[in-house]
Amino acid sequence: MKPKFYITHLYPNEMSIYGDMGNIIAIKHILNELGIDPVYQPVNIGEKLPAVTDWYFIGGGQDKEQLIIYEDLLEKKDRIITDVRKGVGLLAICGGYQLLGEKFLTGNSEMVTGIGLFDVETVAPSSDVKTRCVGNLVESCVIPGLSDVNLVGFENHSGQTRFTNQKKCLPLGRVVSGYGNNLDAVYEGCVYKNAVGTYLHGSCLPKNPQLNLWFIRNQLDRKGIKYDLSKLNYSVEEKLNKQLVQKFS
Ligand code: GLN
Repeated sequence: MKPKFYITHLYPNEMSIYGDMGNIIAIKHILNELGIDPVYQPVNIGEKLPAVTDWYFIGGGQDKEQLIIYEDLLEKKDRIITDVRKGVGLLAICGGYQLLGEKFLTGNSEMVTGIGLFDVETVAPSSDVKTRCVGNLVESCVIPGLSDVNLVGFENHSGQTRFTNQKKCLPLGRVVSGYGNNLDAVYEGCVYKNAVGTYLHGSCLPKNPQLNLWFIRNQLDRKGIKYDLSKLNYSVEEKLNKQLVQKFS
């Protein structure tokens, strides 16, 4: 019997833009290669969280979609925070990342309350497209286990994200090229235990195999499941990462 790995995908209908579904495809691919059975659990508005989750995913979304889902997400807040505190993995992209912070004030002054998992808050200066952070983003990872690994993706956000009191979070990476958390950011993203918020769309995990492996390793270790990474061949993804980093740095 293959060991199971429970993936909970939050709001796949509303929160998945710029190919964010590719993150689910990428993590399932590596798990299958390792002989582990990925159990995909989509959760939509009004649906309960599954009994077991090893890794949460929430993608990006337009302001409109964030306004549609945030109240339902607030109802799921306690369970998600409890799971992350005990080491469960999580990847949140852009709009999803913003909703896991403390708040997102849109360019039209609509307040979107976050669940407060990450010590960040996001404010959009206006709804003028010129104030958006758009383009290819390269960063050098600063978290243990991934330091100096180059990550690459595509960003497109009005929200300017800043750390509030940095009691419990680290940034994901130092910006090499592109914007990052805001128009003049030194850093990008936010990490709390095995939970990562980032503006890297595009999709993130297929372009950044080392981050994919970081999630998988820390969850399989947490579950006490043995695995052999030497079975894997992700040379294509590594080559893509290097080419994109070179092209956009
Ligand atoms: N609507 C949010 C913003 O514009 C998030 C956008 C996104 O997820 N790409 O900042």
